[in-house]
Amino acid sequence: MRALRLVDWKHEPELVEVTDPEPGPGEVRIRIGGAGACHSDLHLMYDFEGGLLPWGPPFTLGHENAGWVDALGAGASGVEVGEAVAVYGPWGCGVCHRCAQGMENYCVHQATIGAAGGGLGIDGGMARYMVVPHSRYLVPLGELDPVEAAPLTDAALTPYHAIKRSLPLLIPGSTAVVVGAGGLGHMAIQILKALCPARVVAVDTNSKALELAYDVGADETVLMDGNAVEAVRASTHGVGADVVVDFVGIDDTLRFGAGAARSLGHLTLVGIGGGTLPLGFFTVPYELSVATTYWGSIPELIEVVALANAGKIRARVERFSLDDAPTAYERMRVGDLHGRAVVVPS
Ligand SMILES: [Zn+2]
Ligand SMILES: [Zn+2]
Repeated sequence: MRALRLVDWKHEPELVEVTDPEPGPGEVRIRIGGAGACHSDLHLMYDFEGGLLPWGPPFTLGHENAGWVDALGAGASGVEVGEAVAVYGPWGCGVCHRCAQGMENYCVHQATIGAAGGGLGIDGGMARYMVVPHSRYLVPLGELDPVEAAPLTDAALTPYHAIKRSLPLLIPGSTAVVVGAGGLGHMAIQILKALCPARVVAVDTNSKALELAYDVGADETVLMDGNAVEAVRASTHGVGADVVVDFVGIDDTLRFGAGAARSLGHLTLVGIGGGTLPLGFFTVPYELSVATTYWGSIPELIEVVALANAGKIRARVERFSLDDAPTAYERMRVGDLHGRAVVVPS
């Protein structure tokens, strides 16, 4: 089969021929329906230096996957051949305290495993087949189309986790600000509208992204420029936002977030843009909690799939063939892609 592989750091991905993978004991082979192209893949391709992460190339890209169970390895159980499933992406040890709670994204032993998941150190979904180590990573899709469901596993799961921890703040009359209305941000807006009564304000530098934000339910959109903090303050009667979720994570967006948030608020950093926020007594509002979040848990993915099955959230998807996957990344890089690009390998 053909696969889109990262063969080295700071390197264009390559479409190469590889042998079809066979599932070993306990493993499950998935025929990929869709593999989402994630902005973080661009950082893998162009930004990361060798040694930054405890794993590395070569591996097949694609950490946001859904498809059909194709073959079970010896002793694998819990799913049936032909069943449509979403693939939970971050793979931990499965037995530590965090993994036992379904939070394999925060596995205690992650550093010694040698990969973060399929498409992140181990072969991912940008190929006809992908092998998943255990059926506990597979969530039945019900009636959902695997192509449209692929983004649920990252573009929706990651904001779902980031938003869920802040729900106690998102009471009637509150305001949530989504910074970056791209693949994750456009799902975050829908998740906020589905889970809480907060007013949702979307902020982006790209007017097309703001149009999408409005289409998927944002109450207000703000162009990210020098006046964005004032715009959010004005729209919250001067008090600021209860929750700001930053899906970009550069210096400018973090500075904006700290300026737009109110005291006792949450500023949650999801985007891996590499920016920093100076923390001092006078640099952020009183009792503002600043936290990073990374991906989400298996129970949360089950909840996300349930939200999609209930018709409450839906990824805006543009489909690409495997041969055109490099084009999807190139368009993402120049800001000419809105919603989620999903690679459909077969
Ligand atoms: Zn991702
Ligand atoms: Zn673990």
